[in-house]
Amino acid sequence: MSTNYVCYIPTDPFFLPGESSQAMAIQLLATTTGSKIRREVWSQVQYVSAMGNHERVICPNCQMELTGEQWQEMMNIDWDDNVSGFRMNKHPAPCCAMPLAVNELIYEWREGFAKFCLSAEYFETWQEIVPRLEELLNTKLIVILQHI
Ligand SMILES: [Zn+2]
Repeated sequence: MSTNYVCYIPTDPFFLPGESSQAMAIQLLATTTGSKIRREVWSQVQYVSAMGNHERVICPNCQMELTGEQWQEMMNIDWDDNVSGFRMNKHPAPCCAMPLAVNELIYEWREGFAKFCLSAEYFETWQEIVPRLEELLNTKLIVILQHI
């Protein structure tokens, strides 16, 4: 059995909303969706995947599609277990050598990097609710549609 989820993460991978902001956002999501909301807070910056909706990763400079191996290598270089997980340092892209951070690559479908994530089972108004969530959480948001 597979399920679709809507995940909201801050555009800044290092941003962590305050406790009361989190509580208000969860309340709004729970009321809107009528389902259980999952909150995740990580001590290190994590890759938030679209799972089954992950199709490809593209270089924003030369538009080339990275192979899984090339992308994985960029991810490995940026990851540091001792610091904050992914560091968002710029590394030369394997295609055109443009210095890029892993969150500057184009992910289809949309994916991202974060220390904070709110997710709910798929619901119709997932887009309409974004401005109110952004206001409550004091940050712009990336929405990731996960297929698990
Ligand atoms: Zn490139």
